[in-house]
Amino acid sequence: MSTVLIIGAGGVGGVVTHKCVLNKETFTKIVLASRRIESCEKIQKQLPADAIEIAQVDADDTVQTAALIKKVEADVVINVALPYQDLTIMDACLEAGVDYLDTANYEHPDEAKFEYKLQWAKNEAFKEAGLMSLLGSGFDPGVTNVFCAYAQKHYFDEIHTIDILDCNAGDHGYPFATNFNPEINLREVSAKGRYWEEGKWIETDPMEIKMVWDYPEVGPKDSYLLYHEEMESLVQHIKGLKRIRFFMTFGESYLMHMKALENVGMLGIKPVMHQGQEIVPIEFLKTLLPDPASLGPRTKGKTNIGIVVEGIKNGQPKKIYIYQVSDHEKCFEEVQSQAVSYTTGVPAMIGAKLMLEGKWKADGVYNMEQFDPDPFMAELNAQGLPWKVLDL
Ligand code: NDP
Repeated sequence: MSTVLIIGAGGVGGVVTHKCVLNKETFTKIVLASRRIESCEKIQKQLPADAIEIAQVDADDTVQTAALIKKVEADVVINVALPYQDLTIMDACLEAGVDYLDTANYEHPDEAKFEYKLQWAKNEAFKEAGLMSLLGSGFDPGVTNVFCAYAQKHYFDEIHTIDILDCNAGDHGYPFATNFNPEINLREVSAKGRYWEEGKWIETDPMEIKMVWDYPEVGPKDSYLLYHEEMESLVQHIKGLKRIRFFMTFGESYLMHMKALENVGMLGIKPVMHQGQEIVPIEFLKTLLPDPASLGPRTKGKTNIGIVVEGIKNGQPKKIYIYQVSDHEKCFEEVQSQAVSYTTGVPAMIGAKLMLEGKWKADGVYNMEQFDPDPFMAELNAQGLPWKVLDL
């Protein structure tokens, strides 16, 4: 008997909830909570009667969140609200004495900077309480970290370089929309790029470094170097690493719109006065843009996310590519969400499943690559995210 409390009834929260329901033998009681009860009701209506319970919670409020965790007697909390709520929900888990999992690292709403520092600082508290915190159990971060651990365990004696390659070739028919929370997405994409080489972080201008990568089942796509959070933990845990980079594909229309919006100040995160009222430009833009959850029924095409790893095995140079392809329409058929939410929500459910089954269990705050990748890789195949390994 295990109770899961899922916080955040957005695009990803919907997928996590559907997938937990499909794994009822592990998640015997499922509670979905969010800031607005209507968001929970929308997801509840997609599921069989009595499949889940729902609740309202403001996860910015630790006391309120801890009270809910205790009330529902949760065994694990899956945080798929926004990165702004990571610290308050972690504190609520400490207060209520339950394990924690999320898919994105903490960001302060007023500063577009994401790093693990404040979450890692809770390691001692989680250890002392005999509790576990699993950080970044989405696709990237998440599966990409597990792919790295899998490469390290089975394919290499030493890993020298890793390129993480994230391609979304989905077409939703809008000139401009984001596939997950617009505010989080645009903050990430418009920030300076950064990669790690020989022990140092090297900063680039946004979209300064571009390459074309031929993605299996998708084709060649322009891919741009971005900073991405999984690199911060991977540089600490992958032996012998000399360089790690992250690339994401963007179409011309997306980049053109983003540049124009940035040029006119619409990506600003500081409040401005408008007709006697304070507004935050990027929050107003979010109101205008299509809700990512509404893209599901209209998105066609595939995603392909993976890693290219180079290193040494038995004294010989070796290069492999581990990747996963998802089809937007198939994801929608299964859980009424497009592939970006799907590829994030399924690993969140898997992480919680392994924690509840005791397969991934340790006291303290952990990143994904710190655990044995094999049970996670097996679950990916079983739960709708099959992967492949190619020798390059
Ligand atoms: P959405 O904006 O669709 O959903 C976020 C949900 O969080 C909303 O339903 C919202 O509630 C809820 N929420 C916001 N603030 C609060 C609060 N104070 N208390 C309770 N609930 C709150 O985002 P996504 O589903 O697209 O993304 C969810 C998370 O997944 C984000 O952290 C994102 O960064 C992460 N992500 C990770 C990826 C990965 O691969 N690792 C990829 C994509 C996303 P309501 O509707 O009730 O107002």
